[in-house]
Amino acid sequence: MIKYELRCRGCEGQFEGWFADSGTYDRQSAAGEVVCPSCACTDVGKAIMAPNIALRRHGAPAREQVAAELRRMFMAMRRHVEDNCEYVGPELAEEARRIHYGEADERGIYGEATAEEAADLRDEGIDVVAIPWLPRSDA
Ligand SMILES: [Zn+2]
Repeated sequence: MIKYELRCRGCEGQFEGWFADSGTYDRQSAAGEVVCPSCACTDVGKAIMAPNIALRRHGAPAREQVAAELRRMFMAMRRHVEDNCEYVGPELAEEARRIHYGEADERGIYGEATAEEAADLRDEGIDVVAIPWLPRSDA
């Protein structure tokens, strides 16, 4: 025996149907022998299973997983920046300009800038990105 979740297109009702096997269902369905118990119409098909509904009911673990994944990414990003760029602290905007205008060596730098400073840099055509800076977990 095989159980199908069925859906009536007439009354949109959903019900279970038991069949000897999937071939029996196909045969009965094609012959119009699968009847909706609510409205007795035969416009019945298999309901689409939505496995993500089960996930949504347990939203908390999924959200924590996403948060953990983001944390891992941001930490990796921080490590990459620290390994490859020079820390210039609050002088970021100044130094980025010096590099841009050829007054300082071309190199990757990182440090602090206000949103306004970052916007000004972008206006001048200087590449600057703000990234979430998470505290090191090993600190
Ligand atoms: Zn129906």
